[in-house]
Amino acid sequence: MERIDQIYIDGAFVTPHGDEWFNLFNPATEEVIGQVRLADAEDARRAIAAARRAFPAFSRTTRADRLAMLERMRAAVAAHEDELLEAIVREYGAPAARSRWMASYAHQVIAAAAEVLAHYDFERQAGTARVVMQPLGVAGLITPWNSDAGFICGKLATALAAGCTAVIKPSEMSALQTRIVTQALHEAGLPPGVFNIVTGRGEVVGAEISASPDVAKISFTGSTTVGKAILRAGAETLKRVTLELGGKSPMVVLDDADFATAVPLAVQAGFMNSGQACIAGTRILVPASRKAEFEALLAREVSATKSGDPRDADTAIGPMVSAKQWERVQRYIRLGLSEGARLLVGGEGRPEGMKRGWCVKPTVFTDVRNDMTIAREEIFGPVLSLITYRDEDEAVAIANDTLYGLHAYVVSGDPQRGARVAARLEAGRVLVNTLAHEPKAPFGGFKQSGIGRENGPYGLEAYLEPKAMVVAA
Ligand code: NAD
Repeated sequence: MERIDQIYIDGAFVTPHGDEWFNLFNPATEEVIGQVRLADAEDARRAIAAARRAFPAFSRTTRADRLAMLERMRAAVAAHEDELLEAIVREYGAPAARSRWMASYAHQVIAAAAEVLAHYDFERQAGTARVVMQPLGVAGLITPWNSDAGFICGKLATALAAGCTAVIKPSEMSALQTRIVTQALHEAGLPPGVFNIVTGRGEVVGAEISASPDVAKISFTGSTTVGKAILRAGAETLKRVTLELGGKSPMVVLDDADFATAVPLAVQAGFMNSGQACIAGTRILVPASRKAEFEALLAREVSATKSGDPRDADTAIGPMVSAKQWERVQRYIRLGLSEGARLLVGGEGRPEGMKRGWCVKPTVFTDVRNDMTIAREEIFGPVLSLITYRDEDEAVAIANDTLYGLHAYVVSGDPQRGARVAARLEAGRVLVNTLAHEPKAPFGGFKQSGIGRENGPYGLEAYLEPKAMVVAA
């Protein structure tokens, strides 16, 4: 049983002022594996004050100084990769391939931020003006549970690359992972106050950070509902805000696609991160003329996809992170049935033979209309909807008929045609015939999937403000 009773403020591990204890679970067994003492609003204020004190000196560091710090952070987080991997499996339940990717992504994303910093032009000319890109101030970084270390490291590395200092509010459900990342970042030996990590409740610590007049910028990844609350809270002090929110991404399978590759691609895109992925391709759009063929292959592929113990090498889908998340997925499966969608594979309850653990059956509904709740709302579990279309125009119309616009996928036998369809989709990122991640590309959403972009120079600029100076001779 782990007891985590420290947060990180001003370069030191300290006991929180907050005194609420929160249980941590192993989602594969439903057992309590630890407890974390949560920070409160007073802790958030102390963390913000430390970041504010550190800002004037840190914002004047040189590119070379910050590159050296980022390299120390990268190396320290990389040195803890195996420990982090174990925490990801225990506390989050990600299966083998995914958990290894997540554990290594945490340091790779720091390297990616360093590379952007190495080549970024902080000064440019605009007519007679010299334009200097200047760091915003203290950044509040609020992250979810579905990729704890990756989000903490990615947001922090970018904020520091820009010259901002930071207060991080990770999910309270990820405290084991956060402790390892915090220890690693501490070992990197950054100046006190440059980053502070306060695990606490969103409506307490997150809300304090979002409303604080001493925080200049919020970068948030999480649900659309909370994103809107943060935007409202930040309005009073006109905070700069980057919001990475939910999605209901279309997987557009064109009529010339080779289903032998399209079906496995759709299954991987739909079930990535056990379905708990903002970019999951949860609406599969197939031509009506080839529906039966696609259904048969999809049913076979999904039936062969194992949902269960993350420590079992054959497992592709691990448990949902919490009982609440499990219940939420079950509710959507019932909703799909009650709205008249037809179950192709899966359904309510745990996978065959499982008595414990928040695992769900990989589920696909067919005969789904795009106006059904299961096609409109983000389920955040391995539940996919198959929707048919008559022609390319209708496929594009259905794909774009959503409040979201984070991601989209197109599969076609002709990459040029795939790219033409991709150009018509309202989404921050579109992948054609691939699931490859491009860390240099901007990441973020259209419509209610968010505001702003992360990654690459676009991500760095989200922490910078242009200052124009005209100096008369
Ligand atoms: P969430 O919105 O409930 O919580 C995210 C974070 O915000 C947590 O740290 C939480 O404690 C905090 N929070 C909650 N209420 C707050 C408030 N009032 N003020 C400030 N902070 C508050 O989301 P979650 O359940 O942790 O994560 C799942 C959601 O995240 C999904 O909707 C998913 O789509 C989204 N997500 C988006 C991306 C992306 O990049 N677009 C990536 C991963 C997850």
